Amino acid sequence: MLRIEHLKAGYGQGIILDDIHLSLDQGHSIALLGANGAGKTTTLKAISGLLPVCSGRIEFEGKELTQLPPHQRAHLGIAHVPEGRRIFPDLTVHENLLMGAAILKEPDQAVEQKIFELFPRLKERYRQVAGTLSGGEQQMLAIGRALMSKPRLLMLDEPSMGLAPKLVGEVFEVLAALQKEGLTLLIVEQYAKKALSLCHYAYVLNRGKMLLEGQPEEVESRLQEAYLS
Ligand code: ATP
Repeated sequence: MLRIEHLKAGYGQGIILDDIHLSLDQGHSIALLGANGAGKTTTLKAISGLLPVCSGRIEFEGKELTQLPPHQRAHLGIAHVPEGRRIFPDLTVHENLLMGAAILKEPDQAVEQKIFELFPRLKERYRQVAGTLSGGEQQMLAIGRALMSKPRLLMLDEPSMGLAPKLVGEVFEVLAALQKEGLTLLIVEQYAKKALSLCHYAYVLNRGKMLLEGQPEEVESRLQEAYLS
């Protein structure tokens, strides 16, 4: 579904991603791991079109993406839940969800109901201004907003960031449910365990280069070795 080959990208003159590759089958999930500054967020930005690439290919369902602007990539079914959530703080929960559906002809109420089933707290806070939600609720809203666009690929940038362990568990339970229903996920995480337990395959970035990749168990043990050595 998603294939990245020889990707180089960066900011201004500085190259951050150096010869990155990655591939993701429909209905599968991958984790993209790495320390602070490894280039994980930069990779997601290159896929969603927020950052132009210097060279290389990004293909989604056989279509070359690199020249397409972000809104066209969203129309193809790519949704990006950014780091730090970036909800609209002055809009209500409902209005934020509607913003997620902006690329559709009209919002799908069944999808909104589904989001309320996944995140009952959002239903309880339907008319609450989003800036007054707790951090965990804001993360749920950011995921819900992305789901409103009916994506085929959902990319999440550090969904566990700043959340208490119990809430991290709740968010990952929802991601597991979405995956079970066949949604394709690309999860960026600095803390590997949760993402590795959910995903079919994992990549580890280090200073803009792909350091290692493999089945979750294999990547987990190799990461442990690296931390302990
Ligand atoms: P973290 O886990 O801390 O979010 P990350 O793996 O997502 O890290 P990126 O945010 O992709 O890392 O950053 C990769 C590198 O690109 C870092 O060295 C960072 O300083 C640099 N960088 C990120 N955004 C910009 C920008 N807008 N302008 C210049 N450099 C940037």
